[in-house]
Amino acid sequence: MDRLVASLKRLPGIGEKSATRLAYFLLSAPEDVSRELAEAIDRLQRDTVVCETCYTLSDRTPCPVCAHSERDATLVCVVEEPADMAAIERSGGFRGLYHVLGGALSPIDGMGPETLRVNELERRVASVGVKEVILATNPTAEGDATAHFLADRLQGSSARITRIAYGMP
Ligand code: ZN
Repeated sequence: MDRLVASLKRLPGIGEKSATRLAYFLLSAPEDVSRELAEAIDRLQRDTVVCETCYTLSDRTPCPVCAHSERDATLVCVVEEPADMAAIERSGGFRGLYHVLGGALSPIDGMGPETLRVNELERRVASVGVKEVILATNPTAEGDATAHFLADRLQGSSARITRIAYGMP
């Protein structure tokens, strides 16, 4: 019990109280609940690869989005993390491809341009007939700074650079 509570407490947003509650839940739940959870956690890192085209996390590369024949490859949506890509995918309204940066610029946290997949984005925009790059970094100070930085870097390319609108459903 102590070991499980200690492990759960390492997760973001989980304190002693939540960890203890979850541990008691697992103790009293049917056995397959904890077995399924343990198996899913065990397989998570083993079965997850980085897509060599868009850099999202998937069980294969290229990922299902990049491999999809009906997606519009001239449209590239730039996001910070795989979870941001998943959120846009869930909305179902976007038919282009993605580029996952791996974070946002944040000098305080040591996140400079060289820690993000900026060169990869530049290469991609230059090589495969990309017509529009949509900067969909998060609406935070870091996300905005990253969008401005990318817009500057991509200025010389033939693609149109746009920023996603916020405050709309
Ligand atoms: Zn991909």
